[in-house]
Amino acid sequence: MTDRLTDIAFIRALLERHGFSFSKGLGQNFIVNPEICPKIAEYGSAAPGFGVLEIGTGIGVLTAELARRADRVSAVEIDTRLLPVLEETLSGFSNVRIYNEDVMKCDLRKIIAGDFAGLRAVVCANLPYYITSPVIMLLLESRLPVESITVMVQREAADRLCAQVGTRESGAITVGVNYYGTARRLFNVSRGSFMPQPNVDSAVIRIDLHEETPLSGDRERFFFRMVKAGFSQRRKTLANALSSMLGIPKQVVYDVLSAAGCQENARIEQLSMEQLIMIAEKLYS
Ligand code: SAM
Repeated sequence: MTDRLTDIAFIRALLERHGFSFSKGLGQNFIVNPEICPKIAEYGSAAPGFGVLEIGTGIGVLTAELARRADRVSAVEIDTRLLPVLEETLSGFSNVRIYNEDVMKCDLRKIIAGDFAGLRAVVCANLPYYITSPVIMLLLESRLPVESITVMVQREAADRLCAQVGTRESGAITVGVNYYGTARRLFNVSRGSFMPQPNVDSAVIRIDLHEETPLSGDRERFFFRMVKAGFSQRRKTLANALSSMLGIPKQVVYDVLSAAGCQENARIEQLSMEQLIMIAEKLYS
């Protein structure tokens, strides 16, 4: 059965039997290209000794591929209408657990601790596009005990997530990702690989998480406030952005910028990760 989960005629019949119709609002574009799931699973470290957390199962095409390779798969799916479908498509697997919850509200730490005891944990998913950045930031900020996050996202989101800090392509999310880990783009996926077909192409990326972060506590919170303020007015100089958004006097920012070896008129997108951290530390103190 599971090798038919990319067969369009089979999927149509399955969904019709369950009276299921796609929800655009939930970002339901299911993978129908048989080459994609094995590659995500392979790159995502789904293997013996691993527990995989999946976000958004759809009809379970990626879930099944992960369950074939890893010791355990725990998946969060918000759409209750998919539960009877999954009961059918994943009936052959005893190592899968589905949580019918909203990923933004459920206790992922508890799921990992309860389901993956003694296993190494990773995240693999074809993310619903409408919440790509919030889900990735949630996964990173919650400091879950996972080694890597391998996800399919819209191609433009992949560009941003994998951009170099200090370039025009970077954004607040680029800094967020680089603060917690190292991102790399794995492969592109064309829009024709999905049902229904979206209007954009996708790409799969992997973020390997650092064991430690450069800052913690209030310093870390200040760092992210500064980054958000800087990127919310990215065309302004950092001194202008921080004085208007955070009320920090421009002269204070100039002094800190020059101590960090930067021009007074530097914009946030021109600063390296090391410079951003140094500037945040100095401004915080
Ligand atoms: N993994 C399947 C695949 O690749 O074919 C489905 C991927 S589809 C892009 C995204 C899935 O995420 C849908 O099944 C959708 O119902 C689910 N989803 C959307 N919002 C969610 C949320 N807030 N929490 C959990 N699941 C969600």
